Amino acid sequence: MQYRIPVYQPDLSGNEKAYVAECLDSTWISSKGRFIEIFERNFANYVDAPYAATVCNGTVALHLALLALGIGPGDEVIVPTLTYVASVNAIRYVGAVPVFVDSLADTWQVDPDDVERKIGPRTRAVMAVHLYGGACEMERLAATCARHRLLLVEDCAEAIGTRLFGRHVGTFGDVATFSFFGNKTITTGEGGMIVCRNAELDARLRHLRGQGLVAHREYWHDEVGYNYRMTNICAALGVAQLERVDAILNGKIELATRYRTRLSGTPLTFQGVRSGEESSYWMVTALTPSERQRDQLRSALSAGGVETRPIFHPVHTMPMYREDSEQYPVAVNIASRGLNFPSWQSLSEDGFEIIIDLILAHFGETA
Ligand SMILES: *Cc1c(COP(=O)(O)O)cnc(C)c1O
Repeated sequence: MQYRIPVYQPDLSGNEKAYVAECLDSTWISSKGRFIEIFERNFANYVDAPYAATVCNGTVALHLALLALGIGPGDEVIVPTLTYVASVNAIRYVGAVPVFVDSLADTWQVDPDDVERKIGPRTRAVMAVHLYGGACEMERLAATCARHRLLLVEDCAEAIGTRLFGRHVGTFGDVATFSFFGNKTITTGEGGMIVCRNAELDARLRHLRGQGLVAHREYWHDEVGYNYRMTNICAALGVAQLERVDAILNGKIELATRYRTRLSGTPLTFQGVRSGEESSYWMVTALTPSERQRDQLRSALSAGGVETRPIFHPVHTMPMYREDSEQYPVAVNIASRGLNFPSWQSLSEDGFEIIIDLILAHFGETA
């Protein structure tokens, strides 16, 4: 179905077209070309990390990050059940076992106490997933990982522009990954980035990304590698997007603030933001009082031509990770009541008013 107002739409109104045209004109359309290095350098500067490596999407970014850290069969990785499925799939790709944890009721981020409880002799790493533009409690997770000598991976796919105590997320752990899918805060169509602080790890990531090719001998590969490279065309989009990232973020923060202000009299509860946390509001997400009310609100908006999305289903409820467990009551509850509203920063004033009117009318209130 074609919605009058989609839940997301990228803004490609800057230098995107010019830079892609440069790729076509120069014939540098594959994974070599000047935009790759520029995007990596500019991204590293933006998040203030020493190393950034482009890859072809956010899922393989996670896969490569875990591989490069040496996580594999026999290892357990602690991960919130309330996340996008890719976080968990990447753990399976390397042959490790995902160990699920519950979420916090207010911010919906991974629960650091539950992380502590799930640490066992096989635990190798914790994967923190910064959900919907908010930030996990990295100060606590980093302390826990240091105390138990665990690796800390940050899935920042939804958190470009998110800061905690003034630091960009992705700089608290051993390695961090980003996604540039079409509905992420900045997009390259499909794309991803891996950020780290360690030169050796960065070299290892690049080696695995490029088929395990050795430096000074053509067609000689010293291990099983992958082709996880980004194209110059995608990097061209990324460079143009990153030029405007602050404007995009300001627009998103303003939109999220307007939603919160205008809907403050409704029964909706928005994602909590802790002090010290600067959310990038990737998605404007809220909870209704019950699952039934969530479904009714989604239907009312859909009938008015407005697309919404449900919050992610907890991964432990999916067939390949099925656990008939009562251990994740908070995540299950959030998932049953949550929805994402249209969250793109170039949404028009008129479009925004249509959404607000539909929601207020649904709750029997008037603007
Ligand atoms: C989008 C997303 C990913 C995967 O990124 P792709 O680029 O779509 O592969 C991973 N983790 C989270 C939390 C995401 O939201």
